[in-house]
Amino acid sequence: MEYILRYLPFEGHVHWRQGAMLKAVAPYTARQCWGGIIMPNRVPPIITLDDAAAHKHEILVTIPEEDFESLIVGYLSEETSIDDVRRGFESGVWIAMKFYPRGATTNSKEGINSWELPFHPALKVMEEIGMPLLLHAEANVDESTGKEIDIYDREYRFIPVLEELRKLYPRLKISVEHGTSLEMAQFMEEHGDPKKLVCTVTIQHMMFSRQDLHKDGFQPHMMCYPIPKRAEAMMAWRKLGTSGKPYIFAGTDSAPHPTHKKESSCGCAGGMFTAHAMVPLYAHIFEQAGRLHNLEEFLCINGPRFYGLEPRPGLVTLVKKPWTKQSMVAVNGGEKIRPFGYHEEPEKRFRFEWQIKKP
Ligand SMILES: [Zn+2]
Repeated sequence: MEYILRYLPFEGHVHWRQGAMLKAVAPYTARQCWGGIIMPNRVPPIITLDDAAAHKHEILVTIPEEDFESLIVGYLSEETSIDDVRRGFESGVWIAMKFYPRGATTNSKEGINSWELPFHPALKVMEEIGMPLLLHAEANVDESTGKEIDIYDREYRFIPVLEELRKLYPRLKISVEHGTSLEMAQFMEEHGDPKKLVCTVTIQHMMFSRQDLHKDGFQPHMMCYPIPKRAEAMMAWRKLGTSGKPYIFAGTDSAPHPTHKKESSCGCAGGMFTAHAMVPLYAHIFEQAGRLHNLEEFLCINGPRFYGLEPRPGLVTLVKKPWTKQSMVAVNGGEKIRPFGYHEEPEKRFRFEWQIKKP
């Protein structure tokens, strides 16, 4: 069985980091997609326009052999300069700004509190110039009590902030990244709009629920943020994700955490590495949902359109031919990343159904 995409895939949300890690992981995305949104929570994060330009340059010199358009995102912080936001967007150095709730996820200590977000001075400018705001849509601290919000409740507790943003900045382009909760799926179904309010959905949030995270003991390699929710929430995202709606698109949130940080006695790093099988895994999910016919919009069309880019024509033939991932991803310097589907015991490896047919 074959399935043909008439456009090239686009990655709506990926973590590449820097240095040796960047070199090890970026080619996986670049070989499947023509372009993608590169997240800014490296160490240190991409806060200034100079940081962004330097990162873009680092990518270019690290993977010169890849034909890939890296779309850089700025990290919204208290230090963000309004002048940088405007100049960087207008000159094409960065394409969007990303909100990280302070302390909620990997490298987010320079982020801002969710209740302060609507008053960040950059938003007015972004609305005016048409620059998207990407949301790690979680409220991790309660504004009135100062107490931490339960990890399973953080996404739906962010919805009031989202409503306030929409009220204060009616023309602001907003993307809710990696949706996971039932409430957010319902909110998107009601308010999603391909020009103004979109969302990305990851592979893992359409495949796994918190039941899987705790199956046969805690599974550190499945741990990711936002934390997977109940099975009903996963089903809601699978339904919405594969629905063909123009306001939803692929964003793997693939994140390269070395195994020693995932298999650690003192907390495991949140994030899954799925970039090596992005297209096969989304095809797997869409086929299982009986909606392979919606895959092209989701993978190739809706993302670029939201960012004001033309979807890129090109033939990609997907072929149904099972395979397994037989090795870890090696990083120069000795670290290793465990890609989704790999297992030391061959019989426990995930059976990928689809692959991209080599020309
Ligand atoms: Zn992410």
